[in-house]
Amino acid sequence: MKITRIDTIHIAEFPHILFVHLHTDQGIVGLGETTYGPHTVATFIHSQVAPYLLGKTPLHIERHWNEIFARGRTTLSRSAEIRGLSAIDIALWDIFGQVTGLPIYQLLGGPYRERIQIYNTCAGYRYGISATQQVAVGSFQSSKEGPYEDLEAFLYRADELAESLLSQGICAMKIWPFDQFAPKTNGQSISLEDLDKGVEPFRKIRKAVGRRMEIAVEMHGLWNLPSAIRIAKALEEIEPMWFEDPIRMDNLDALSQFKASTHIPTCASETVSTRFAFREMLERHATSIVMLDVAWAGGLSEARRIASLAETHHLPFAPHDCTGPVTLMASVHLCINAPNALIQETVRAFYYGWYPRLVTQLPRIENGYIYAPEGPGLGLALLPDVLKRSDVTIQTSTLESKRL
Ligand SMILES: [Mg+2]
Repeated sequence: MKITRIDTIHIAEFPHILFVHLHTDQGIVGLGETTYGPHTVATFIHSQVAPYLLGKTPLHIERHWNEIFARGRTTLSRSAEIRGLSAIDIALWDIFGQVTGLPIYQLLGGPYRERIQIYNTCAGYRYGISATQQVAVGSFQSSKEGPYEDLEAFLYRADELAESLLSQGICAMKIWPFDQFAPKTNGQSISLEDLDKGVEPFRKIRKAVGRRMEIAVEMHGLWNLPSAIRIAKALEEIEPMWFEDPIRMDNLDALSQFKASTHIPTCASETVSTRFAFREMLERHATSIVMLDVAWAGGLSEARRIASLAETHHLPFAPHDCTGPVTLMASVHLCINAPNALIQETVRAFYYGWYPRLVTQLPRIENGYIYAPEGPGLGLALLPDVLKRSDVTIQTSTLESKRL
């Protein structure tokens, strides 16, 4: 069996996502995905990966990981090369599953559990898709696509939002009400007035639903160290589930200082890639919870190694997904298998909104849990109509073109 064609698939409506199809001479097609800088990633895949991978068997996943990693000439950053490698690696695992007729979690060693708890990241339908939805209040516009405009909800009616989530059995949520104040000072300080405004949604949630709801605080690396600590101190009485990316991930000593400043767990970071970077973070005691993104950190091969590395430090991991359906599916396979999986990120506006418009299947969510995916490989494929959309661009490298 050999890889005969590599397609990169970009859809203008979802400008940050890149899908990858690996075709084989036996008709099996593996699906991968990554996000951000899709055109740069596609260039890396067609110019650097295709000449190596075309004509090879898809089943030497470990070998291919190392060869593509070496071609990227990069180790620590969430670079276009690592994102390309991630997408290819996920597609290779998908092929492995289809060849064996087994789901990926089985190939990883089988299920440690049959389901994993989810939390809802309170983004709206177009969050991360249209640029105006990235931060908050000033530029916020409701798309009115459906009932789950959860970003608007956490800013203005966090109490109702918490009740809505609990009514679906979802007992954990993530919000970022401080982001709106960071641009005022470039994150160099936060006033007491803004501090109180940022704490307000948390108070509303506690008042409405008490301690039945876990609340994670997303800080998006927007603050300097003293401001991040000031925010953390103001929230400690709320007992958040974690503080995520309180500062940028470019100084692990500063992150360690943040972590030491509060009894609330620190969570970091989807912006970090490969086991080499996570090793340093863990050895410097800079995080309590490892947030990894399967489609950014180096694919499933690397995500499982990072998860295992976290376990050696007696720490859990929590996969990121605020990006795309394949990332969610791959993450769930890892969570089903890995003993130290803590909780899976989901966005209900995506899960019930645009994810089903792109893929054949999603893992079942019921009563606050997401269940083991069904079927061989990832257990999902792009819907055939996706490839026929008027706004789709497909770039192809083939074995024939390689031989020319
Ligand atoms: Mg995050």
